[in-house]
Amino acid sequence: MYDHIVIRYAEIALKGKNQKDFLNQLVRNIREQIKVDLDFNPTIEREQGRLYLRLDDKAPEEFYDSLNHVFGISSYSPARKVSLDLEEIKAAALFELRSAMKGPTSFRVSVKRPNKHFPLTSPEMQQIIAAHMLKNITGLSVDLHHADLELLLEIRFDSAYIYTRKYEGLGGLPVGTGGKGLLLLSGGIDSPVAGYLAMKRGVIVEAVHFHSYPYTSEEAKQKVIKLAELMAKYSVRLVVHLVPFTKIQEQIAHYCHDNMRIPIMRRIMVRIAEQIAYGREALSLFTGDNLGQVASQTMESLYAVNNVATMPILRPLITMDKEEIMTIARRIGTYDTSILPYEDCCTVFVPKEPKTKPKVDACEKEESRLPLTELISQAIAETEKLIVYGKEISKRRQEIDYATLNPNNSIN
Ligand code: ATP
Ligand code: MG
Repeated sequence: MYDHIVIRYAEIALKGKNQKDFLNQLVRNIREQIKVDLDFNPTIEREQGRLYLRLDDKAPEEFYDSLNHVFGISSYSPARKVSLDLEEIKAAALFELRSAMKGPTSFRVSVKRPNKHFPLTSPEMQQIIAAHMLKNITGLSVDLHHADLELLLEIRFDSAYIYTRKYEGLGGLPVGTGGKGLLLLSGGIDSPVAGYLAMKRGVIVEAVHFHSYPYTSEEAKQKVIKLAELMAKYSVRLVVHLVPFTKIQEQIAHYCHDNMRIPIMRRIMVRIAEQIAYGREALSLFTGDNLGQVASQTMESLYAVNNVATMPILRPLITMDKEEIMTIARRIGTYDTSILPYEDCCTVFVPKEPKTKPKVDACEKEESRLPLTELISQAIAETEKLIVYGKEISKRRQEIDYATLNPNNSIN
């Protein structure tokens, strides 16, 4: 029976004196993810470069889905914990190897010995354990370079851990160590991927979506909420701001030149997003922009849109090929929802011939015909706020009172 999962982290080990904060955040995130997914409070011990999650009679498989969605984990292994008694170690190693074997198998033994007081050296232990395995199991051979199975043994200070299985984690940095950013989330393929990549660098992501109900359907809105829920799985929860954009779109359509609609829409989106971001202590915006993909993503358009921003607009996908973006979208599980055929607010009002090289002064001239300040504050006042979770989604989706949500993304 496995009784622990050994969790390894890579990059955070390099963070010098910040390491403690990173590690605290990682442990907090693992705990929260498991709490939300399984309604269980796990005990997690720390020791020299590893975390040990105690299974408390649960099967290790129950935790894999949660661990697979926490940034900062490089890999993990279900393990048996035993005392430092040699006979006990041998017996547990035998049991572990037997249970991992499927027919004739080559193997090797690797020993890590952070406990230098243990009376046997690593090579001595390797030999003793390997000999014990060969004596007791038939169909077993040693292969030091291309073994089917690696039997790993960690000699720690008060106990030893034994395991053969190793699963890859997501890598990256724990969400909560990289500040907060507000993602402009459309219903497309790109922006959920951009949000995922921001989370991967430790950023707490909140999302803002602009909708044009009733020009866009209720399904279009639900699709975006579904995307937010899929992304929430990678950071326990996600706050979503749903901004009514209809009135603004109508005014743009009425007062502004056809081919200038898109850059003006984008510039207004950025202004609104920034105000929301400042109110939520976020210091950057994230978008799914990708150079050259559509008319609104030329260098000139990006310049015209950026021109109204006072905080950084970060664009994780800017140089990627569509194919690369789609590959990530499939891997993280957002692709199938993104391709559902519901219209976006921009497509409803899309002009016949959008300007690919809008000029800032031309945008400003068009915008001068709009009651911008009023439109923006009204949209913000009517913004709907949701908090969504990756699991048991419909049950837990709720309107939130912002006062109960502190800046590090957890609910008091
Ligand atoms: P996506 O696949 O993310 O929709 P796209 O390739 O369709 O991107 P655009 O439609 O030009 O490109 O949008 C560029 C970016 O602008 C999006 O990635 C998103 O960050 C933001 N954006 C566009 N429409 C909206 C919207 N309705 N609400 C929030 N953000 C939006
Ligand atoms: Mg789009």
